[in-house]
Amino acid sequence: MGEETAPPATPEKSDPPKLVLAISVDQFSADLFAQYRQTYTGGLKRLANAIVFPSGYQSHAATETCPGHSTIMTGSNPARTGIVANDWVDQGAARADKVIYCAEDEREDGTDHRNYVESAVHLLVPTLGERLKAISPASRNVAVSGKDRAALMMGGNNVDAIYFWKKGQFVTLKGRTVEPGVAKINAELAPVFAAPDPDGLSVPESCRHLNRAIPVKDGGSVGTYHFNRPGAVDGAFRASPALDAWTVRVAEQAIDDMKLGQGKVPDVLSLGLSATDYIGHSFGNEGVEMCIQQASLDQALGRLFAFLDARSIDYIVMLTADHGGHDLPERVAMQAYPSATRIDGKLTANNIGAAIAADLGLPDGMKPLLARGPIGDFYLNRDLSGEMKDKVRAAAITRLKEYPQVAAVFDARELAQVPVPTGPVEEWTLEERARASFYAPRSGDIIVLLQKVVTPIAHPGPGYVATHGSPYDYDRRVPILFWRKGLSPFEQPLSVRTVDIEPTLAPFVGVAIPQGEIDGRCLDLDAGPASTCPVATIAGK
Ligand SMILES: [Zn+2]
Repeated sequence: MGEETAPPATPEKSDPPKLVLAISVDQFSADLFAQYRQTYTGGLKRLANAIVFPSGYQSHAATETCPGHSTIMTGSNPARTGIVANDWVDQGAARADKVIYCAEDEREDGTDHRNYVESAVHLLVPTLGERLKAISPASRNVAVSGKDRAALMMGGNNVDAIYFWKKGQFVTLKGRTVEPGVAKINAELAPVFAAPDPDGLSVPESCRHLNRAIPVKDGGSVGTYHFNRPGAVDGAFRASPALDAWTVRVAEQAIDDMKLGQGKVPDVLSLGLSATDYIGHSFGNEGVEMCIQQASLDQALGRLFAFLDARSIDYIVMLTADHGGHDLPERVAMQAYPSATRIDGKLTANNIGAAIAADLGLPDGMKPLLARGPIGDFYLNRDLSGEMKDKVRAAAITRLKEYPQVAAVFDARELAQVPVPTGPVEEWTLEERARASFYAPRSGDIIVLLQKVVTPIAHPGPGYVATHGSPYDYDRRVPILFWRKGLSPFEQPLSVRTVDIEPTLAPFVGVAIPQGEIDGRCLDLDAGPASTCPVATIAGK
């Protein structure tokens, strides 16, 4: 394992950094960071000893990947970014499939939400890279990720290069070319992806106590897998540390090919590391699998920082997550929290809708309620007459509230009237959390939130035993870490938000963001009496 070496000496303080490196580790909860913090020896050790906000918040209720990534580089709640969920229902969509994936352009012929053309067209606000390019056209805005939606939501629409993992290789957007350097990485990766890895990864000493089989409902177990994966199975490759390692390779290639951070003006590189999330979904986050991943992630980040240091690039790095995570209920229940459980399989829009249709005598085959999952946004069928719509809404709210696992049900018409919350984010009500990820043109007519420690997966299966998405702190709280040579370390345990990241980074590259355009505030990264924030916001610090 590579020990993190001391970073180079302090630069002149007034020099702007030449590269903003914004990293999102998918599903990297504040709890994971706290649990593993003492074990890091690589890149995460550098960040854990720099400027640390251990109580960062993805403050909204819909703690999914797309909404979460949409907050990081825009300074805005999903209510403003328009990214209310990974998928939503648009009954007016001009194609047969009315489900819309957050990072697709549904206007493309022949697409549906699973077979789509990747796009950031749904993102309603500019990213930091886009704002920078508006004032500094020679600056480059680049995004690389294991997931298309992470790269697109952090990069935005105006990107100079973008790469993301898709079925065994790194690809780019329709109409663009994979540059030769990245094509070469794909060629090198192909046999690695295709070959089984019968030996798997070694288990670090610090992970051995976690190597314990936990039976999962409906069969199988987790807790003892060491990534001895089969060949050419996309799900198995994605849910392994290899995905992050190769994603970092692509980012490094882009840095060299485009000379990022090596020109006269600053560049922005957004990096989404997705393996932590796939591993969390597949095996939970308290087993040997996540322990191995934490060690691997730490080393991959250490290699990336060493790569930048070796090129004497002056960079500022920020690391956070799109949401936290919750372990699988079988292990949570075993480990001192017996109330942890899975959602009642009958709690679905289809079941509740069928009961309502029978009660109200709706025509055969009419589905009064539409939804993308067991929680979140429920939509009233737009073919219902106005009066019938009101009846269905009232009946659905009543029936949903009868389920003991349901914590809250909000009527969108009322939620729209709630002011977007400010103030200490840990004290927001459930309604305020839901408001922060509510955008009327895309959100449901009814918003459903479950009780704590109820996992919204009724029937687990390979690759999907645990998840996130709740309005609770295990899913909302994420670390927010900053490092730049010359910036003194400090730790601020009070809550801050991922919407604060963009206004915090913006002054470093000369981007001014008009007041009222975003939801976040600038965090002063100077440990002493000076400030890294614009003068106007110092009074409020
Ligand atoms: Zn995610």
